[in-house]
Amino acid sequence: MSAAPDAAPDAPTVASTVASTVVPRLRASLAGVPAYVAGRPAVARDGVEVYKVSSNENPYPPLPSVLAAITEAAATLNRYPDMAATAMVAAIAERFGVAPENIATATGSVRLLAQLVEITCEPGDEVVYAWRSFESYPIVAGVSGARSVRVPLTADARHDLPAMAAAVTDATRLVVLCSPNNPTGPSLRSGELEEFLAAVPADVLVVLDEAYREFVTDPDTPDGVDVFRAHPNVVVLRTFSKAYGLAGLRVGCAVAHPEVAEALAKAATPFGVSGIAQAAVVASLEPAAEAELMERVAALVAERDRVVAALRAQGWPVPDAQGNFCWLPTGERTAELAVAFAAEGLVVRPFAGEGLRLTIAETAANERLVAVAATLLG
Ligand SMILES: *Cc1c(COP(=O)(O)O)cnc(C)c1O
Repeated sequence: MSAAPDAAPDAPTVASTVASTVVPRLRASLAGVPAYVAGRPAVARDGVEVYKVSSNENPYPPLPSVLAAITEAAATLNRYPDMAATAMVAAIAERFGVAPENIATATGSVRLLAQLVEITCEPGDEVVYAWRSFESYPIVAGVSGARSVRVPLTADARHDLPAMAAAVTDATRLVVLCSPNNPTGPSLRSGELEEFLAAVPADVLVVLDEAYREFVTDPDTPDGVDVFRAHPNVVVLRTFSKAYGLAGLRVGCAVAHPEVAEALAKAATPFGVSGIAQAAVVASLEPAAEAELMERVAALVAERDRVVAALRAQGWPVPDAQGNFCWLPTGERTAELAVAFAAEGLVVRPFAGEGLRLTIAETAANERLVAVAATLLG
């Protein structure tokens, strides 16, 4: 709508006048839903390279072969993408050794999390998850009108699976397990997970959110896809945002039993995953490309282990770190220390009153993290 030529540029519009008097009725459950806090961007500063270590992104740029696939796919952006994402789903299914009927995809695994709540929960039904964990969980539960049941982590920042099993009631429809846990770092172990699954009713859907599975080196941590094969009520979430370095393209997938995958497809936004994203995933799963991507993951894992060892040697009680990030339990000093890191050109992710999540990034960023942390110990 264009303004009349003689209208003052700051004259109130009709729309804003109406908005001030009529308040549309929104769902009451929204009032309790927190806003997602994205990692702050790195703002360039004179003479100091600033690093964004606040969103668990991959510091490596896309592979040339992936960029070429994206460029080629861009030539047909006037067309809707393949709604069934046939080639991408086939490549993902082959990668995990499952059938295409076991795969659901969406614009990021966060979108699949929302669909999982939508296909399982009526308003008031319960979603059980650990806390502190991924900040999307309360949002997707709350927006659907489901009730969040948060089970505190153990003292060593792990899921308290016996307490989570005890928190399951007749109203529980979904349990979300985050392994490795964002933001604290530890992953689930086979024994505790099998005990948990044996204790949970078979009709409660259990989600294994494995956004960082490729970074795990703990030999006791199961591959969620194996767990999925053994349990009809388990669904696994994976993403191309972290290890595969495609956060900006928005693709995640679920490995699910056919009834669940079909329900996820019903709840999907049509044409959600773009053609360029589908092409990028197919190119990333080419054996040579994937091998190169996993070499990068191995380099990040080596950096992670080096950073964690250095921080612990300084005296920081860093929990087991199995993702591409680590956790500093800074408690009441969290906000102050986030500012101190920022002053040194490191944008970290603070969780007020709890701790700082530090993404493992470029070697220079990691080295600076360790050097600055040494000066901040209480
Ligand atoms: C980053 C992350 C995701 C993935 O998000 P996308 O929507 O796929 O980018 C999912 N779960 C957890 C715990 C994460 O940290």
